[in-house]
Amino acid sequence: MAIWIRNGLVISPGKKPQIFSPGRVLVEGDKIARVEADNGEMLSDSAEIIDASGCVVFPGQVLLHTHFYGYPARGMPPLGALPRTFLDVLRRVWWPLDRALTLQAVRLSAQLYLWELLRTGITCAFDHHASYGATHGSLNEIASAFNDVGLRGSTCFEISDRCGVKTAQSAIDENRHFIRETAQRFDLAPFIGLHASFTLSDRTLSRVANFAEELDVGVHVHLCEEKTDRQLSGKSPVRRYRRFGLLNEKSIFVHGIDLRAAEIEMLAESGATLAINPRSNLNNAVGLPNIKALEAAGVRLALGNDGFGASLAAEAQTALGAFSTSARDPSFGWELLSRILFVNNPDIAGRHLKKTLGIIAPGAAADIAVFPYHPPSLLNKSNYFGHYLFGFGNVPARDVIVNGQIRLRDGAPVGFHPGSLTEEARQVFQKVWQQRSLRGFHVRRSV
Ligand SMILES: [Zn+2]
Repeated sequence: MAIWIRNGLVISPGKKPQIFSPGRVLVEGDKIARVEADNGEMLSDSAEIIDASGCVVFPGQVLLHTHFYGYPARGMPPLGALPRTFLDVLRRVWWPLDRALTLQAVRLSAQLYLWELLRTGITCAFDHHASYGATHGSLNEIASAFNDVGLRGSTCFEISDRCGVKTAQSAIDENRHFIRETAQRFDLAPFIGLHASFTLSDRTLSRVANFAEELDVGVHVHLCEEKTDRQLSGKSPVRRYRRFGLLNEKSIFVHGIDLRAAEIEMLAESGATLAINPRSNLNNAVGLPNIKALEAAGVRLALGNDGFGASLAAEAQTALGAFSTSARDPSFGWELLSRILFVNNPDIAGRHLKKTLGIIAPGAAADIAVFPYHPPSLLNKSNYFGHYLFGFGNVPARDVIVNGQIRLRDGAPVGFHPGSLTEEARQVFQKVWQQRSLRGFHVRRSV
């Protein structure tokens, strides 16, 4: 079915921004067919009409690193004493949580988080999953949740030796099965998930390397989120991934805070993506990536949220403040962040998904968000980022189209019924909290 979005302020960001005011967009099938000024003439009766008067029409946003499985942690107390170090945070919050998850909890977490993302205008999310209590079949549950809510993106299971060799192998098997059997069917980008160097043995990495070569896929992995990754690995995590052939343009590395100059050069040369997540970094008190050095070296940068909240505009606001403060330059970060958000994120995701994302132009994927926002000051090609950052990026989307399908209409879901899910989740997540345990994690012996 064709859809006309008409009489809106149409903004296509990216390398060559375009603005139509008022403008209209024709969606045919899963692609955008036309974008033009709206001269008010009557349109074909057969198309569905979305009246975007008083609204901004913007491409669906792309989130390059997140964790749906962290959703049950809302309001959850840590186990034992309050965490004082990054390793404490993992041992007392995240690892006990993921090991207590059931398949039902995995499905509910993904559905509810995807639903929150959709309402902020995000149409593509790259998930990094862990549920060592329910490994087999967990990625299928997440793929089904993508299908239920309507977003596109990726998921993978973070392989780790922290719960033992057998469970690491089960995580490898889950990735393998998903990539071979499911990812393509759900149109999700295939990746092998890895936790972080310091919980991966050489033996496990060697198995992953064989499997990555066999399936021609990259890894999605946390890298030097804090000094622990280097200290407990006993060597440079970047050199380690390079030695196993995993440092390449197919891979997504995440955080990149404790990196040395030579490692930054290696990352840049490899063409790999580095997804930064400043809100999570500030929350975990682990410092921030050296954004100036990364940018100067030409590292391909992307923005994720690490599962921290849902809004990319909020993430970008924090990133802007963090980077300009680190640089002691109030102007630093503005152009860079706009480029990361509106060029890099959609380009990187689009390359993995074989789609044109992040623009409103003929031939691009029909992923579109309509925000109820009437700019109170001049909006043009050079300042729309400011209106996104402090204006329409912060209001819930009114309508969202993904892959040519309306998934949110007048603020209500289409084809998905979240009504009773929160009630179900409250009961399921309470049991997950009660099942958590501090015992049985191995870190120092694993490498
Ligand atoms: Zn993460």
